[in-house]
Amino acid sequence: MSDKKHVKLHPEFGLNPTMPVCFWCSEETGEIVLLGNAFKGRAPRSMILSYDLCPKCEKSINGQIHVIEVVPQPITKHQRELAPGLGLYPSGNWCAIKRDALNRIFPEQYAELRDRVLATGKMICTHETYSRLTEDAPVSDTLRSMEPQGHA
Ligand SMILES: [Zn+2]
Repeated sequence: MSDKKHVKLHPEFGLNPTMPVCFWCSEETGEIVLLGNAFKGRAPRSMILSYDLCPKCEKSINGQIHVIEVVPQPITKHQRELAPGLGLYPSGNWCAIKRDALNRIFPEQYAELRDRVLATGKMICTHETYSRLTEDAPVSDTLRSMEPQGHA
């Protein structure tokens, strides 16, 4: 929650606490978040509140690239988009790849894309690309779908 100092109490459930669960490993992060009136109704015992890596996942990735498989439909009823307006939802499949591996994955004509992945530490890919990556098959013919879309 961005405004921790001013939790507006829920009229019925007061501080309305929940325990955040990491989306990536499904484990509780050990934190307690007071949702107060920001959550309509009684907050569940535990909730996925963000797509941030928990400290344990962060440690296991250890500076490698976080590869995230996305799908165009939410996998659960109330799942949020990976980023607002993106229209893509993490499927729950993910892995980490070594930074050096990007040189093999991205041919030279995709150097700009590779550099962006290196800068963010994240690679978001479709089911097709993700499958090829995890089967260690060539992915270059699926990269076109990863090129940034929209307003140039
Ligand atoms: Zn985690």
